[in-house]
Amino acid sequence: MMSFTPTMRAVQLDTPDRPFVLRAVSIPEPAAGEVRVKIGACGVCRTDLHIRDGLLDLGKRHFTVGHEIAGVIDRCGADVDHTWENRKVAVYYYIGCGHCRYCRVGDEQLCPHPKAQPGFSSDGGYADYITVPLRNCVPIPDHVDLAEAATMGCAGSTAVHAGRLAAIHPGEWVVINGTGGVGLALLQYARNAGGRVIAIGRGGEREKLAREMGAEHTIDATRTPDTAERVQDLTGEGADVVFELLGTQEAMSAALGMLRRRGRMVMLGYTTDDFRAHPVSFIVREITLLGSVGSTLEDLHEAIDLLARGVLRSPVAERLPLEDFEKALTATRQGGLAGRVVLTPA
Ligand SMILES: [Zn+2]
Ligand SMILES: [Zn+2]
Repeated sequence: MMSFTPTMRAVQLDTPDRPFVLRAVSIPEPAAGEVRVKIGACGVCRTDLHIRDGLLDLGKRHFTVGHEIAGVIDRCGADVDHTWENRKVAVYYYIGCGHCRYCRVGDEQLCPHPKAQPGFSSDGGYADYITVPLRNCVPIPDHVDLAEAATMGCAGSTAVHAGRLAAIHPGEWVVINGTGGVGLALLQYARNAGGRVIAIGRGGEREKLAREMGAEHTIDATRTPDTAERVQDLTGEGADVVFELLGTQEAMSAALGMLRRRGRMVMLGYTTDDFRAHPVSFIVREITLLGSVGSTLEDLHEAIDLLARGVLRSPVAERLPLEDFEKALTATRQGGLAGRVVLTPA
């Protein structure tokens, strides 16, 4: 007897520093406690480029990339209530060990031994289907666009996480150093928390968007030789919080120079650059340096809720079929688009 295994499309990492490969793989079946999501949208994140370039390498090979995933549950594994079928969901991309001190309090993004990280080290969303534990699925209200909801999976939830870590108080000056997907989401989060926002970008469409989203001032870094000095001028005493999203030595030094005494610098962006600064610039001003990675499951619930209530907007600049992943990655690398690029497998 012949057996036939149905296949689906998946875009995979074979080796860092090589293009991703589109191939046919078998459609996964949900195990007990899991569901299968038919992927409607997967956002393209700069981290996908870092994975391709080898800048972020968790040691895994031959897995499907993409971690900003939204879709519709199309099959439930054993022990999952069938009322979940046909529900729109966004996928949380950490599956922690469940037992360590971080998992115990919901900080799965810090789990030293995660069971899986879809799109980072296990199969992600540049594909037609994915299987994940039901608890990793965050319901999306019907009126919310699937592509916009997908971008909450990383850009939105990362912003919520960093915003919470920074504990922004009303009236504080908040600098967003970099107006990519996370930057624009952070801008809106900071505004909603009562912050006075200065957004630093590279002019163009993004600057317009930053203004529309409530930035009190925008700075075009391509026309401003000393962004730190400009922030000092605008704020009088320096910023209370700087979110550093670019990760170049130049950007990180500038960010440090923007802060007031006892200011908080939150690091989210990275390149191949190290960060070099003299300790005195932290010591005598009592600067706090915070790292922020990914998000908790609760941060994603919050991001979807903010999107659904219109507090957070997430413009999608381009929707492309899965086959056009190279075009999507190139557009993301070039930057400057008026929003996220999203692949739409379904
Ligand atoms: Zn853990
Ligand atoms: Zn991402």
